[in-house]
Amino acid sequence: MSFSVTILGSSSALPTPARSLTAHLVNHDERFFLIDCGEGTQIQLRKLKAKSLKINHILISHLHGDHVYGIFGLLSSMSMMGRKQDLYIYCDPRLETIIKSHFNYFNDTISFQIIYKPFHPKKVQNIYDDGKLEIVAFPLKHRIPCMGFVFREKPKEKRINKFFIDELGLGIKDIVNIKRGNNYVLPNGEVILNEKLVLPSGPLYSYAYCTDTRPLESIAGYIKGVDLLYHEATFLNEDAALAKTTYHSTAGDAANIALKAGVKKLCIGHFSQRYKHESFFLKQAKYVFENTILAEDGLCIQICS
Ligand SMILES: [Zn+2]
Repeated sequence: MSFSVTILGSSSALPTPARSLTAHLVNHDERFFLIDCGEGTQIQLRKLKAKSLKINHILISHLHGDHVYGIFGLLSSMSMMGRKQDLYIYCDPRLETIIKSHFNYFNDTISFQIIYKPFHPKKVQNIYDDGKLEIVAFPLKHRIPCMGFVFREKPKEKRINKFFIDELGLGIKDIVNIKRGNNYVLPNGEVILNEKLVLPSGPLYSYAYCTDTRPLESIAGYIKGVDLLYHEATFLNEDAALAKTTYHSTAGDAANIALKAGVKKLCIGHFSQRYKHESFFLKQAKYVFENTILAEDGLCIQICS
């Protein structure tokens, strides 16, 4: 089982020589999810030798250009590479119209089917569930409707300790009952508790993605205890007024949310290119939340391996 996040772009608004525009590649057990798709995302994928054709799900947080302009080129390239597999796009409902009109205008045909999964851009909702992993979208506070995403592994099916199958002579019906979480009752009425009959299921891992947003207390409730939180930190603390008027967060804001939510690790990114040294972001965030790292393009963070 693998669960990792690769930062494809960590700059806000404008790309720099060192930082591309926002996009993250999430690998959960060899299923690939792309979150946001700033201009240049497909180049980043190529640089990192990530196979774009393996991406079957694209999530778009909001309709600002620095988070979405890369999708047109990426879809076009996927088509040129002969993709046949369906692609799911989770987005503000208006993106479907935008993508369709773009390809209509350029008289470009796409070789595969795009299945749009529009979400309500202001409500908490479950947008994906495959039995192993679920993704919940929740509203952030930005100049336009914008969603955060939390990926959580789902409880795995209980596995019976094989020793007890022979020892107790368990039949199919008993096994199904135990897998459902029930206790087992011996003919003499003695009860064997479920947790004694099943193997430990192991920890469940999680990842949350929050950009772009003003600091918002409600976020902490949605992302409680996640293993890794990516939170935007567009500005340094001394530019808090600017962060407020542009509906973004400072390094300190991101760290406060991490602290409130009790997350295990914080990664900050979406830096404004006005600053020369990102080390100040790290210093300001660590002052509040020690286990903080800076997003770097190409950085792969293992949530579990
Ligand atoms: Zn934005």
